[in-house]
Amino acid sequence: MSENKTVLAIIIPCYNEELVVKSTVETLLKVVEGIVTKGKISDKSYIYLIDDGSKDKTWDIIEDLHKTYGSKVKGTKFIRNYGNQKALIAGLLGVKEIGCDCVISIDADLQQDENAIETFIDEYHNGAEIVSGIRNDRKTDSFFKKYSALCFYRLMNLLGVKIPPNHSDFRLVSSKGLEILEKYSEEGLFLRGFFHEIGLKTAYVHFDVKPRALGCSKFNFFSLTSLALNGITAFSIVPLRIIAAIGFLTVLGSFLFALEVISEKYFLHNTPKGWATLVILLAFFGGLQIFCLGIIGEYLGQIFNEVKARPRYIKEKELI
Ligand code: UDP
Ligand code: MG
Repeated sequence: MSENKTVLAIIIPCYNEELVVKSTVETLLKVVEGIVTKGKISDKSYIYLIDDGSKDKTWDIIEDLHKTYGSKVKGTKFIRNYGNQKALIAGLLGVKEIGCDCVISIDADLQQDENAIETFIDEYHNGAEIVSGIRNDRKTDSFFKKYSALCFYRLMNLLGVKIPPNHSDFRLVSSKGLEILEKYSEEGLFLRGFFHEIGLKTAYVHFDVKPRALGCSKFNFFSLTSLALNGITAFSIVPLRIIAAIGFLTVLGSFLFALEVISEKYFLHNTPKGWATLVILLAFFGGLQIFCLGIIGEYLGQIFNEVKARPRYIKEKELI
């Protein structure tokens, strides 16, 4: 497809968003229209909504929007709530099937700045396969969310998953990115880690976050913790290695401890009978057990990596 005919798909995960979904779709249609007028994208560009098992009228509104705007507003509905990551994956794979040159994901509450979409498209035309939205600040977040997010990104970086902080799910993915995504069949894919890991040419666009206009955040302490844990365990087996390291250090420490206890016993003669043997054995076997657990963890990590059956490599180009 030629550059000025880029078909853009915008995907929106929606969970109980009856208060905002209509105005969001209308705002985005205007944004799309503006970019079409400038000749940067095709007028076949469309919006694809994923209703993540909403219990309110979200789906009825999506159906109405489809009646009004026809093929410009498409949608799908989950049978139950699977969570925002699954909704995003379904959106990405859904538009791949329908057909598009690139796709942008944005939240239903439009907290992300929809005017950045044009910049995303410009970056795509400049050759980026992924354009990642980076939040300028976290002013609109609660105290808990701001600091837990900060700790999460620090921890991910320490564990070897180098995701830039304040990364968001507001991003553009090219059709090439979608083809790679389709090859990853693992259940708990963490998109922010995934798109960073696959190594496609990435551009970063900074955007402002607005406060949510209506409704409330669909994330709570438990869903955020689960997202963070999934992000860490899906991309890193370092926590298992840490167990082995702790065990090994404890065993080493128990030898030093043994020297100290033995010298106390023989030089100071102030330890009760049997005490030295007891504490040395306790420290030694305690460490040995953790170390062995760590070794088992290493094998578990191997199984974990294999079971995920990620493609071993993705070829950039091929000459046949
Ligand atoms: N969302 C979803 N499924 C869920 C939770 C959230 O599809 O189980 C959607 C939600 O409708 C919104 C986006 O994910 O479009 C981000 O959610 P929200 O705005 O509540 O998160 P926050 O901005 O508070 O991080
Ligand atoms: Mg929000």
